[in-house]
Amino acid sequence: MQHQVSCECGYQVRDTDEDALIRTVDQHVHDNHPELVGQISHDMIRGWIELVP
Ligand SMILES: [Zn+2]
Repeated sequence: MQHQVSCECGYQVRDTDEDALIRTVDQHVHDNHPELVGQISHDMIRGWIELVP
C-alpha cells in the first residue's frame, strides 16, 4: 500500500512512509503555496492521505 496526497493545484505525491509523505507535502506547501504556510497542520495533511495499492 502507498499513501497518496493530491494537492488542489494538481500536484500528486506518493510514498510508502506516511511521515515522509507528510514532510514532502509540507515542503510542497512551503514552495508553492506560501500563503497557506501556518494554516496547514500535519494533522490536516494526514487527513488528505488516500491509500492506494
Ligand atoms: Zn499544491
